[in-house]
Amino acid sequence: MLPLYIVEPELWRQPDAAARHWKFVSECLQDLDQSLGKLGQPLVVRVGEVVDLLDEINRSQVINALWSHEETGNAWTFARDKAVGVWARERGIDWHEIPQHGVQRRLGSRNGWAMAWDRQMAEAIVDPPLALPPIAGVATQVLPSARDLGLSDDGCVNRQSGGRHAGIDLLDSFLAGRGQNYRREMSNPLSGATGCSRLSPHLAWGTVSMRETAQATWSRLRDLKGIDTPDAKAMRASLVSFSGRLHWHCHFMQKLENAPSIEFRELHPALRGLRPAVADPALLQAWASGQTGFPFLDACMRSLAATGWLNFRMRAMVMSYASYNLWLPWRETGLHLARQFTDYEPGIHWPQTQMQSGTTGINTIRIYSVVKQGHDQDPTGAFVRRWVPELAHVPDRCLQEPWTWDGARRTVGRSYPEPIVDLKASTAAAKDKIYGARRGDAFHAAADVIQDKHGSRKSQIPMTGQRKKSATIKRARLAKANTDQLDFDL
Ligand SMILES: Cc1cc2nc3c(=O)[nH]c(=O)nc-3n(C[C@H](O)[C@H](O)[C@H](O)COP(=O)(O)OP(=O)(O)OC[C@H]3O[C@@H](n4cnc5c(N)ncnc54)[C@H](O)[C@@H]3O)c2cc1C
Repeated sequence: MLPLYIVEPELWRQPDAAARHWKFVSECLQDLDQSLGKLGQPLVVRVGEVVDLLDEINRSQVINALWSHEETGNAWTFARDKAVGVWARERGIDWHEIPQHGVQRRLGSRNGWAMAWDRQMAEAIVDPPLALPPIAGVATQVLPSARDLGLSDDGCVNRQSGGRHAGIDLLDSFLAGRGQNYRREMSNPLSGATGCSRLSPHLAWGTVSMRETAQATWSRLRDLKGIDTPDAKAMRASLVSFSGRLHWHCHFMQKLENAPSIEFRELHPALRGLRPAVADPALLQAWASGQTGFPFLDACMRSLAATGWLNFRMRAMVMSYASYNLWLPWRETGLHLARQFTDYEPGIHWPQTQMQSGTTGINTIRIYSVVKQGHDQDPTGAFVRRWVPELAHVPDRCLQEPWTWDGARRTVGRSYPEPIVDLKASTAAAKDKIYGARRGDAFHAAADVIQDKHGSRKSQIPMTGQRKKSATIKRARLAKANTDQLDFDL
């Protein structure tokens, strides 16, 4: 068994790749190399195109079989996998792709998906081998730097550390107590940073598996069963909520697995072409750099640039603001966020990007007020003051809307920008356009097809043809079932 990692320069030239991803991955690889070295055969690293390198190794070693994880990646990795498949078939080499999560390849129907997820996650975890006999004569290479791969420094000074040890530490600390107030803390940008598990980059890059995360969570829930203290009750409630999110991870990835076009094209045909094909560069830049004149939104974007992470609600909010208030094309803003998230997972990212942009046709339209979210999630202004120091002297009551302050002229329009859009007017205009496109039988018929292929089965709502009587109520319930993670005021 030869443990092999191929660094693919072309993958790192794709528009969704960033230095923070590669730096995280190279820390993971160094950690993996040390663990494998203890077993006898360190990690072999090669830099180049997979098919060329497999060919080269096959000439000197004779490959009997390939074992890899099964990837739901972007369009580029999908095409690469096809090329590897052809290469292996032509040489009579079996390629075993091991499913990593609850995503099912070549899924016929979504019915029974959640039960299959539970079954898959309950399967026994395979132990690592006790030893790996070394294989002589296979050269290894030094891991390239981000700069070697053409990735410029992206200023992620507070990025999470890579490597399995870091991931396991997070899982352990979350289950041991850090997650106790998960439900209460998750949506606040400050408390969420410690109250959420922070496992996302590890699940995305494969240093911690979904199965071990699910099993460790279930085991902790079993330990807590029957304990009647307030702490135990709070922890139980948090872990039930957390388990649900583990499902969502794969529920979203399954969408991209079933329809890779989600990366590029609006899921619902009636919602295509509503937004301009190319983003207004000034609006895009203001949003991306946290210079929109809306303090809470700007604090989120700046914090994301420096840390590589945002909680779920803030991700939904920054996407909604870009897609509705600025009416920017989601593919471009989605690419920016993909590069900013250390945990970039195409299968979650693109379906979520479309969902928060209102282009799936099956989800409730959610347009977040960045001012209301600021008041709700940052009532003391601590988060805004930390990331938008230009506003440090603005009184608390005006911090989320500094233009309302008597002394605004000293700051707003000088050291801090004026709001780049009128929030109310842009929200109303976006609603008109989106709801205008969601009318008529043809829209709903197409939405039914999408629901059948991608939607949650939680609602148990009958599909087209059986819903004439109370179609409106059913649709409302259906939309709610598809947005069950968003049960809060906007
Ligand atoms: C526009 C947008 C883009 C997103 N892009 C990504 C992405 O590229 N990679 C990514 O991992 N998550 C993405 N998410 C989902 C979610 O915001 C993150 O998974 C979460 O914030 C990660 O922090 P955590 O690990 O502490 O989460 P926790 O709350 O501790 O949740 C545990 C795990 O459950 C999964 N999870 C949690 N929430 C969701 C969700 N809403 N949808 C799907 N899975 C979820 C993640 O794997 C997460 O690590 C995106 C959300 C939005 C709105």
